[in-house]
Amino acid sequence: MHKLKKLGLLGGMSWESTVSYYQAINRGVNARLGGLHSASLVISSVDFAQIEQLQHKGEWEKTADILSQEAKHLENAGAQAVLICTNTMHKVADTIAQNIDVPLIHIADATGRELQHNKVKKVGLLGTRFTMEQTFFTSRLQDAFGIDVVIPNAQQRETVHNIIYEQLCKGVICVDSRNAYIEIIDALAAEGADGIILGCTEIALLVQQKHTPIRLFDTTSIHANAAVDFALGS
Ligand code: GLU
Repeated sequence: MHKLKKLGLLGGMSWESTVSYYQAINRGVNARLGGLHSASLVISSVDFAQIEQLQHKGEWEKTADILSQEAKHLENAGAQAVLICTNTMHKVADTIAQNIDVPLIHIADATGRELQHNKVKKVGLLGTRFTMEQTFFTSRLQDAFGIDVVIPNAQQRETVHNIIYEQLCKGVICVDSRNAYIEIIDALAAEGADGIILGCTEIALLVQQKHTPIRLFDTTSIHANAAVDFALGS
């Protein structure tokens, strides 16, 4: 019998995307092992209202404290690696990693490896304003993987950001919002992006590969796959 490593998921940011992680990781384990195999994992799911308020007030240290504590709970519950199930909160990934004694599976590293494997040199990025405008995600792709990142213009970034918090994190899916995203994806491709990172873990609820011929790289499924690799020791 295959002995799976236990995963620790820091979820609830939003819980809509934690559902996607839970499903993708279980399906990924089952696809490789078959039968009734499913993932061994623990989830700590936070109240997103509190995190979202701290984000928008710029109180990142407080978010780091909360998430570090939750990550430690996951470790104490037997998790052998931790995943932060959101791109944005990787802003405080280094602090969280320092507070635990098990590895943190970083979403930007998993994404960088996938882009490299697909020979993408210049990529468009959609995500929250924090992820698009700050450097915690983009520099990691640039420095560790040599990938150029293009982001939407200010007005488009506002649109992408607002749709995430006002709709996707609440499970609201609108055709108009999908059309707005597709227009922005087309604009990034016109600037030379050979692919687009869905750099927010709810975006794949709205936009999927069937909606555009431009290659999409969904960070939720990439991150979940990296977790499955870890769990199987591959
Ligand atoms: N899940 C989103 C992300 O991947 C946004 C919610 C959050 O701010 O954590 O960035």
